[in-house]
Amino acid sequence: MQGFIDHARTFRRRAAQDGHTLRHLAEGQSPQALFITCSDSRIIPSAVTGAKPGDLFEMRTAGNIVPPHRPSAPSAEAATIEYAVEVLGVADIVVCGHSHCGAVGAVVRGEDLTGLPSVRDWLADGTALTTGGEASHDLATPVQRHVLDQLEKLHTHPSVARRVREGRLGLHGWFYEVHTGAVLTHRPDSDVFLPL
Ligand SMILES: [Zn+2]
Repeated sequence: MQGFIDHARTFRRRAAQDGHTLRHLAEGQSPQALFITCSDSRIIPSAVTGAKPGDLFEMRTAGNIVPPHRPSAPSAEAATIEYAVEVLGVADIVVCGHSHCGAVGAVVRGEDLTGLPSVRDWLADGTALTTGGEASHDLATPVQRHVLDQLEKLHTHPSVARRVREGRLGLHGWFYEVHTGAVLTHRPDSDVFLPL
């Protein structure tokens, strides 16, 4: 932790030295995209995309799960999506799954989550994956299926459905390999994930 504290203490000075002006961020934000990915520490969206402060609105959840829209059940995720679309007017939403995902792996491998009831219930509610089937080491196939499932659920959010219908919002499914840095994207025409 000390390293993080030291870095944070000197960030302002280094940002100034690097010539990054943060001053304009006081005027507001106008991010280009909402980037939804797993909380996994191996994914750094700004490093992958080159996004600078103000470019990317992020939502991170365990297993990059997007809960379906439930009007009677407020959620941080629904609020984040609605704000990004309605207020910030992002032009694109990326759902980025990743290789070696602990959440997807737990479901596919049928791990005992008795001691992690919050994780167990979140995964049970948020993924259509079932135990068994293909479970290669990097979990590419189930993670990619899982990403497409989350894209489907994005459509249940009224703001997303409307903007997609109007042609003002693009949805993208990405798969990131934590061990190589490769990024694949879902090609709807061929229904496969290919390198960007
Ligand atoms: Zn993950």
